[in-house]
Amino acid sequence: MSISKITIAVDGYAACGKSTLAKSLAKSLDYIYVDSGAMYRAVTLYFLDNNIDINNSLHVEQAIKNIKIHFKNINNNNYTFLNNVNVEDNIRTPQVSDFVSPVATISIVRKAMVRLQQLMGAQGGIVMDGRDIGTVVFKNAELKLFLTASLEERTRRRMLEWELKGIKNITAREVSSNLQKRDHIDSTREDSPLRKANDAIEIDNSDMTPEEQLAFSLDIVENVLRKTKINS
Ligand code: C5P
Repeated sequence: MSISKITIAVDGYAACGKSTLAKSLAKSLDYIYVDSGAMYRAVTLYFLDNNIDINNSLHVEQAIKNIKIHFKNINNNNYTFLNNVNVEDNIRTPQVSDFVSPVATISIVRKAMVRLQQLMGAQGGIVMDGRDIGTVVFKNAELKLFLTASLEERTRRRMLEWELKGIKNITAREVSSNLQKRDHIDSTREDSPLRKANDAIEIDNSDMTPEEQLAFSLDIVENVLRKTKINS
């Protein structure tokens, strides 16, 4: 791996700006960007569309074998493909958001996704966001960021995102309750619970704009790159 291309893990709670930061970091550094949450969402969409009983491990195992996920960058936008179909919009619905965390507790599902994520990052030069990137997927990442933001701010941001997509029949209370429910399931599950890695840098971005958050993180990246160069 070239010393100038490191691995950056961005973890944190639901809707706290992980994708926004990871995407803009990757763009600034000319790195690959991978949204690992989109992969769990794509699996969830497949399970919903094909009525897979998540309590039946044989069905889950078979279903996982039938799932192929890849990403495509078209005109600077990232799109998630499930079995060669662009599902970027379909994986962001309230229905998928409601079911994704229970699906992400299943070890068979996690094992398959982690394997794929590690393959994608094998060459370094990647920014990946999720819940277990710094603790499981890239335990040796040169830089680990852990984002937090207040529940009110996260609710406000997610409401705005859905409004922009034309989804208006959902209340702030419903959004907030979905975020809390997912955070609870994600951080209490047995396999790879969401937690801050010991060597992660925590950033509370409640009062930061996306631009401020990017500038702050790029300073950290610069420091890490400098140290990596000195030590190599
Ligand atoms: O990042 P996003 O909110 O789209 O992720 C959706 C869900 O996918 C999370 O709530 C979590 O249940 C699951 N997930 C996970 N591990 C990751 C990324 C996402 O369990 N690395």
